[in-house]
Order: sequence, then structure tokens, then C-alpha cells
Amino acid sequence: MSEVPCPYCAEPIKQAARKCRHCGEFLDEELARQRRSPEPEYDPALKALVPVGRTPLSIAAGYLGLLSPLLCFAPFALAVGILAIAEIRRDSSKGGLGRAIFGAVMGGLFTIPFVALLVMRMR
Ligand SMILES: [Zn+2]
Repeated sequence: MSEVPCPYCAEPIKQAARKCRHCGEFLDEELARQRRSPEPEYDPALKALVPVGRTPLSIAAGYLGLLSPLLCFAPFALAVGILAIAEIRRDSSKGGLGRAIFGAVMGGLFTIPFVALLVMRMR
């Protein structure tokens, strides 16, 4: 029986072993990849910085949400936010739901004073 040192804990293990019996690490390339990262092309840290897999609508909703306190952007943030949420609901592989909700909520909040100001000016 040929034994090799485990690349993770250096304990002797069977050469054909797919999983180390000492430390529990997977030695089979395919198994190891599946267990460590279900989405190898998406680094979570990178995803937080770069809009990978996000819809353009959700990115727009995020920025419009930030601009909503300027009031005139609020109705657009609300509209784009709702559109983005609908798009992400249709296709669950798309990200950016947080941004979409943020845009819709900010837009919704600031649309109220925006409409109030418009009504007051019309009088
Ligand atoms: Zn090991």
C-alpha cells in the first residue's frame, strides 16, 4: 500500500484517497473545487467592489437612490428601483437586489416631499 503525505497536514494517507482521513481536506481536484467555491469566477470581495453580475438597472437605481435627497431624482430612483427589482425577480442569476431596493426605498421616501413641493408651487 503506497502512502503519500497529505498536502494539508503532512500525515501519511493512501495515494488513491480522495479525502484526508486526518484533517478532512479533499484531495480530489474536482471535489476540492466544488467544496471551496461554488462560483470560482466570482470573488466575493471583488463582487462587492465591481458590479459583477449586476443588472445595469440596479446600478442606476443605486446611484439615483443616492441622489434622491436632491428631490428631482427621487421619482426616477423609485421607478428604476422597481424596474430593477422586477428584472432580478425574473432572472435570479442576476445580482444587485440590495441596490435596487435601496433605490426604490430612497426614491419612495423622497418622492413624497418632491410631490408636496410641486403641489405647493402650483397653488
Ligand atoms: Zn490531511
